[in-house]
Amino acid sequence: MDTVECNLEEYQNFVANVPQPTGNEFKFKDQLFLKGYWAASQMNCEASEVLELYEKSLRKDIELDPKKVLDECGDVLWGITCILNTLGLTLDEAIAHNTSKLSERHGIAKQD
Ligand SMILES: [Mg+2]
Repeated sequence: MDTVECNLEEYQNFVANVPQPTGNEFKFKDQLFLKGYWAASQMNCEASEVLELYEKSLRKDIELDPKKVLDECGDVLWGITCILNTLGLTLDEAIAHNTSKLSERHGIAKQD
């Protein structure tokens, strides 16, 4: 890939010409899809908040607060649950699927 040199104004014009979502992309999607899409977006933000707690702990050399991590993990779980709900799937199914996948990948027998 060639490097394209440009000044700030040229870059701003370039960005203005990059196709942006207009909302029309969503016209064929139903409400459940949009709810899942929104939840996935929120979940991504919440996962970043978990990472931020770890980064702050590292950078400032302070203790990680498990209550804050728990709070943000709960927010991530909320997003996961919303997504599963839109697809008619359950947390039990997600856990069973993930357990099977990891058991197979790492050769660990599933515990009953
Ligand atoms: Mg949060």
